[in-house]
Parts: sequence; structure tokens; C-alpha cells
Amino acid sequence: TTDSTPRTAIVTGAGSPRGIGRATALALAADGYHIAVLDVDKEAAEDTAREVAEAHGVQGLGLAADVTDPDAVNAAVEAVEAALPPVGALVNNAGITSPTRFLDVSAEEWDRIFDVNVRGSFLVTRRVAPGMAQRGFGRIIHLSSVSAERGGGVFGGVAYSAAKAALLGFSRALARELGPSGVTVNSVAPGLIDTDITAGKLDPARKAAMIEDIPMRRAGSVTDVADVIAFLARPASGYLTGVTYDINGGSHIH
Ligand code: NAD
Repeated sequence: TTDSTPRTAIVTGAGSPRGIGRATALALAADGYHIAVLDVDKEAAEDTAREVAEAHGVQGLGLAADVTDPDAVNAAVEAVEAALPPVGALVNNAGITSPTRFLDVSAEEWDRIFDVNVRGSFLVTRRVAPGMAQRGFGRIIHLSSVSAERGGGVFGGVAYSAAKAALLGFSRALARELGPSGVTVNSVAPGLIDTDITAGKLDPARKAAMIEDIPMRRAGSVTDVADVIAFLARPASGYLTGVTYDINGGSHIH
């Protein structure tokens, strides 16, 4: 990292080959962070960790962990702490979306969206934050969404928008608690980013219409998001906390 103290960044959900998490792991490694990837998909987590280590000459560790499962999270972070330098950054990136309209959302679907996006971020943060506070340094970044700010309208529906808004409240309240310990807590709110999260369910005509409406006239790339996260994770960014960075090409200016 830029102050040359060896540190590890944990990125959840960084297995996805075209995802924001993988690009973020690469950007953090370029800044000198050693990288631990936690993903439900073990092989994908290992692939990202290997690729990042090879690309930037840092240590990489890929582990299977469902972020909704406290035992799995605790075991994975313990393995990270045993193998890598102290954890200096956490990117709560693991997330799932759904476009379901309000009257069609079942209680099960609602819970599943909240489990992965909100409970998952809570559980990993809970396991990692005390060590950061003890060491007097930490950078925690949450993946919210423009859907939280403007009420859906990209792909995610009510459950996703509510869950991503919950992360903003969590992030802001935690920023107040952890600030005195040298730990910053921030969020990014990406708009339409070209990844596989919509699993082919975003209609191409709808996507084209959305791009027409974006001042920058394109979907965002994963590096557009990863660069901002890497900036927030730098030691030099220590006076930014409780903020939300929009990464939406101007599609939502407020
Ligand atoms: P993606 O689907 O490409 O990757 C998500 C990753 O999370 C996958 O590797 C998946 O295996 C992992 N994951 C899912 N459930 C998990 C669980 N329970 N435990 C551990 N890992 C789990 O998604 P993406 O587009 O790269 O999105 C990354 C984050 O950014 C998400 O939180 C998403 O909501 C947010 N986001 C994405 C966009 C977009 O347009 N792509 C916009 C705004 C916000």
C-alpha cells in the first residue's frame, strides 16, 4: 500500500470473472494490497486470487465462504489472518439482485436479497472491524447502488433497492463508530455496469434505451468502479468517511 506497510484487502464476491469484485481485487493489488477473495464459488475465488497474485506480485488467497453464514465467514477470515498480513481493507462486494415487482415479491425472495447484500456485509464487517480498530487502520467499502438512491429503475426492483439503501445507513452509522479508531467506512453507488449480475435477464432494447439516457452514453465498466474503490482504500484517503460515491456516468445527478 502507499505507506508501504504490508496489508491485506478482503474482497467478497470477487470470483465472478467479469465482475466488479475481480476488477477491484486487481486494482487493490496494483496499490500493493495482498488479496483475499471470499466467494461462494471456491474455484472462482481461487482463480481470481491466483490471477491477481500473478499480475501484481502480491500474495493471493481464494476461499469458499457464503457471506450469509457466520461460521463460514469466521472460519474464512481466520484462515486469512493466519496466512496473510493484517487486514487493512474490506470490500463488501458479494451481492445478488432481482427485478421482481413489488406485488410479486415473496417473503423468501425479500429475505434472500437482504441476506446476501445486508446480512452478508454485516457478518464480514463484524468479524474484521475489531482487528482494524485495534491496529488503528481500516478501509471498509460497501457496494450500494444507484437503485438505492433513485428507487430502482436500472435492473433491481424493490427488494434490491431497499437492501442497497440499508447498506448506506449501515455504512454511515458505522463510519461514526469506527472513525475514532482510524477506520473509514464508505459506499459506492454504481449505475449500469457491464457484468453478469443480471444473468442475461436485462433485455437488450431496455439496455440500449438506458444508455441513451446516460450523459456519458455508455454502460460503466468494472474498472470505473474498481478505481474509485481503490482510491477509497488508500491510506491517503483517511479523511473521507461516511460518504457515497456515485459511479453512474451522470445518469443520476443529485
Ligand atoms: P456478479 O454477479 O458478477 O458477482 C457477484 C459475486 O458475488 C459472484 O462471484 C458470486 O458468486 C458472489 N456471491 C453471491 N452470493 C454470495 C454469497 N452468499 N456469499 C459469497 N459470495 C457470493 O456481480 P457484479 O455485477 O460484479 O456486482 C458486484 C456488486 O456490485 C454487487 O453487490 C452488486 O449488487 C453491486 N452493483 C452492481 C451493479 C451492476 O450494474 N453490475 C450496479 C450497482 C451495484
